[in-house]
Amino acid sequence: MTPALEVSSLRKVYANGFEALKSIDLSVAQGDFFALLGPNGAGKSTTLGIVSGLVQKTSGAARIMGFDVNRELYEARRRLGVVPQEFNFNQFEKVQDIVTTQAGYFGLRAVDARERTAELLKALDLWDKREQPARMLSGGMKRRLMIARALVHRPEVLILDEPTAGVDIELRRSMWRFMQELNREGVTIVLTTHYLEEAEQLCRNIAIINQGDIIQSTSTRELLSTLHTETFVLDLTAPLQQVPQLPGYEVVQSASDGLEVTVEKGQDLNALFQVLSEHQVLVRSMRTKSNRLEELFVHLVQEGRA
Ligand code: ADP
Ligand code: MG
Repeated sequence: MTPALEVSSLRKVYANGFEALKSIDLSVAQGDFFALLGPNGAGKSTTLGIVSGLVQKTSGAARIMGFDVNRELYEARRRLGVVPQEFNFNQFEKVQDIVTTQAGYFGLRAVDARERTAELLKALDLWDKREQPARMLSGGMKRRLMIARALVHRPEVLILDEPTAGVDIELRRSMWRFMQELNREGVTIVLTTHYLEEAEQLCRNIAIINQGDIIQSTSTRELLSTLHTETFVLDLTAPLQQVPQLPGYEVVQSASDGLEVTVEKGQDLNALFQVLSEHQVLVRSMRTKSNRLEELFVHLVQEGRA
């Protein structure tokens, strides 16, 4: 099946000579809920900006539902809804007009545009504000207005750049429910976030970007499974000649007299201790290496830098 979103060898050098994207490859399947996760300045907005046609790429290609965002701009745009990181509507325009005008760009008939606008403003809890100029809205409402506008032409793919940045926890959860419902209806969702909890809660697949490179791209389950293991750091009385290989254990030499052992959470280390004592090696001390998603992230980012 054609990927919903695909970028290949995407490179971006800004006018000042800064290389924001080195060579990005991404493929998001239709129906997926996908996170592009990375620290500030990693290149998330640049990537999505190119995909949405807001940023000019230096080289490479980006496709939406198989349509090239440059050569087949109109076909690509029709299938894509974009919620940029910065508010980019006219603050003096009325809420409902902002959404209806967008519908016009995509050729919806006036009556359909009004109907669709009403449907979205109700779903996003903005119906009461429809007559107000956008500048009167709170930050969270403005974000929802951006989402309503992005969805007016019923795109198959929705991309959201940090949709819940600066949004309080309660509203964040209601936005999550809204996005999950959309995804259940079949809309492919790609979001960027630096909230790990968000990627973990919502997304099936996660790509981690850092300094213009994808440093990890895997399923959330896979990523979390590495966290459902525990890593122990063992300090040994003598160095081992050979690192023991045991089923269910992942053992690597850490320092000269140390081992790092990763096991499923809850599994004991008895089999390993057994092997060590057979080699007349004892464990002098042992500690748990804490292993949260955040730490994994930091670890990957450091690896990316190395
Ligand atoms: P993210 O969205 O992950 O925080 P961005 O894609 O916005 O990151 O930016 C990636 C890098 O490119 C950052 O170092 C940023 O400072 C730089 N950058 C972004 N826009 C421009 C620009 N117009 N000119 C020069 N550098 C830019
Ligand atoms: Mg950004």
